[in-house]
Amino acid sequence: MAGIARVARSSSIFGVGRCSYSTTASAASGTGLRADHAPPFLHSGGVARDVSKDRNVQWVFLGCPGVGKGTYASRLSSLLGVPHIATGDLVREELASSGPLSQQLSEIVNQGKLVSDEIIINLLSKRLEAGDARGETGFILDGFPRTIKQAEILDGVTDIDLVVNLKLPEGVLVEKCLGRRICSQCGKNFNIANIDFKGGDGKPGISMAPLLPPSHCTSKLITRADDTEEVVKARLRIYNEQSQPLEEYYRTKGKLLEFDLPGGIPESWPRLLEALSLDDYEEKRSAVA
Ligand SMILES: [Zn+2]
Repeated sequence: MAGIARVARSSSIFGVGRCSYSTTASAASGTGLRADHAPPFLHSGGVARDVSKDRNVQWVFLGCPGVGKGTYASRLSSLLGVPHIATGDLVREELASSGPLSQQLSEIVNQGKLVSDEIIINLLSKRLEAGDARGETGFILDGFPRTIKQAEILDGVTDIDLVVNLKLPEGVLVEKCLGRRICSQCGKNFNIANIDFKGGDGKPGISMAPLLPPSHCTSKLITRADDTEEVVKARLRIYNEQSQPLEEYYRTKGKLLEFDLPGGIPESWPRLLEALSLDDYEEKRSAVA
């Protein structure tokens, strides 16, 4: 894997939440702390985080298509001041550029082939290096890795502190995908599904309000051709087959945070912040500033 190695940032501002870390020692030395310990959210015993440290979060977001992974990853990246890096965007950006891979990529995409792990990791490494050079201190990855092989390659490139696995019951995911609508005029996305999913087996029910279009879009709504129940279910099945070994890979490393979304964004966002021990982060951040 020559050429893709980069200097692993060695300390984490979230590492100091872990009981075995000494907050003062780690803040003073800034060295030797690797992220391959149990994630700090398991030990959020009220230890203050040192937001002045040189390294921010290096997180991965996993989740089924339709779960809202991009939305939560994007919100968290704004909150934490780190970039939200979606590999799909990296491919699109490279295609639109005159970069060294754009020619190769457009051939692959035009032939309907899958972009190889090597190309993706190459784009990602370049993106992370450029970020380092710009002074970025962390990242949230969205859409990568998808397989154990990709995760292993990623481990050779950088340290991942935490993998957040967002989950919704399949019935909710299907309803949510079937409710998606796009305005054929302005291109905005809406969702007409009014989800009221009954709980059971000790799990609470899930309600999600629809995201209805303004009246001038209502008559122009279209459904994506591949948002049929059959296709959505097939997509989920394929996703699950591929992601289960990957989740196990990170679970074994003690890095996987399973998060059952309790509802839509208004219900889920505060609970997600709690699960990540970030519920008081905004206050602290503004106190520091
Ligand atoms: Zn519209």
